[in-house]
Amino acid sequence: MKCSLCNENAVFSSPRYCKKHFIYYFEDKVKNTIKKYGLFKKTDKILVAVSGGKDSSSLLYLLNKLRYNVSGLAIDEGISGYRDKTLEGLKKMCKKNSTPLKIVSFNEKFNKTLDEIIKKGKDRPCSVCGILRRNLLNTYSKSFDALATGHNLDDEAQAIIMNLAKGNVSLLERTGPVSGVALSEKFTKRVKPFYLCSEKEIMTYSLLIGLNIEFNECPYVDISFRLRFRDLLNEIELEKPGTKRKIIYWFLKYKKNIKNKKGEPSFCIKCGEPSAKKICNTCLYLEKISQYK
Ligand code: SF4
Repeated sequence: MKCSLCNENAVFSSPRYCKKHFIYYFEDKVKNTIKKYGLFKKTDKILVAVSGGKDSSSLLYLLNKLRYNVSGLAIDEGISGYRDKTLEGLKKMCKKNSTPLKIVSFNEKFNKTLDEIIKKGKDRPCSVCGILRRNLLNTYSKSFDALATGHNLDDEAQAIIMNLAKGNVSLLERTGPVSGVALSEKFTKRVKPFYLCSEKEIMTYSLLIGLNIEFNECPYVDISFRLRFRDLLNEIELEKPGTKRKIIYWFLKYKKNIKNKKGEPSFCIKCGEPSAKKICNTCLYLEKISQYK
C-alpha cells in the first residue's frame, strides 16, 4: 500500500500516509487544535501531566519539539511494579530531549503510598487515586498558564456518552478541549491538545518518533462503567467508522446549549481550594487515611 501523497510505503491506512506525511499530518492537526480552541499562546508556561504512557509522553515530546515553554509533572502514586516502570521510561525520554520533569509522590505529600492506603482501608483504588492526583495537579499547576493532558478523541467520546447516560450535566458541560477557565483564579485552565486525535493516531505517532512505550496496565484498574462504554464504542466504531468523531463534533456544536445551574465558585473551608462542598473530597480523604495505622 503506497502513500497517497508520494511513492513511499504507507504506515497508516486512513488517511493513507507514509512516515513523513503521517508525522506532518499529525503535528498539523495538533497545531490546528491549539489554535482553533485557543488552548495556549507561544509565550505561555505549560505544564503537561505525564504518566509515562503513550498519550501524555507523546504530548510532552511534541510540545517540546514545537518549542513551547513546557515542563512535565509526573505523579508517583506508589503502585509497586507498575508506576516505577512507567516513570523509568519517562525520565529517559525527558533527559534525552532536555525537557524539565518534576516527579511528586503520594508518599512524600500524603505520607502514604496508594498500595498502603488500599491495604489498610476499604476504599476503591481509582476513587482515592483520582482525588489525590487531582489535588497534586491543582497544587503544582498554579504557577503555570495551562495544564495540558493527553486525553484523546476516544477518551472524550467515551466521557460524553457516559455523562449523557448518567445524566451528569455538570460534568458534561465541563468536558471539551478547554475546561476550568472561569472557575476561579485558583484553578489553572485544563487543555487537551490531542482532543481531535484518535488513540490509533497517537499510538502510530509514538512508534514513529521512537518512543517505544511498553503497554503496562495498572493492577488496580477495574471493570468500571467507563471501560464498558469504551468496549461498546469500539465495537460500534468497527462497524461504523467515524462514529466517535461524529459524537465529538455533535457535542462541540451543541455544547453552548447545555445549561447547568451555576453559582459563585465556592472553596473548601479547610484548604481553600475550589470545592462544591464545604470541605473538599481531598481534605475528607486525608482525614480518613490519617487514621489508618
Ligand atoms: Fe490510579 Fe486507577 Fe489509574 Fe491505577 S487505574 S493509576 S489506581 S486511577
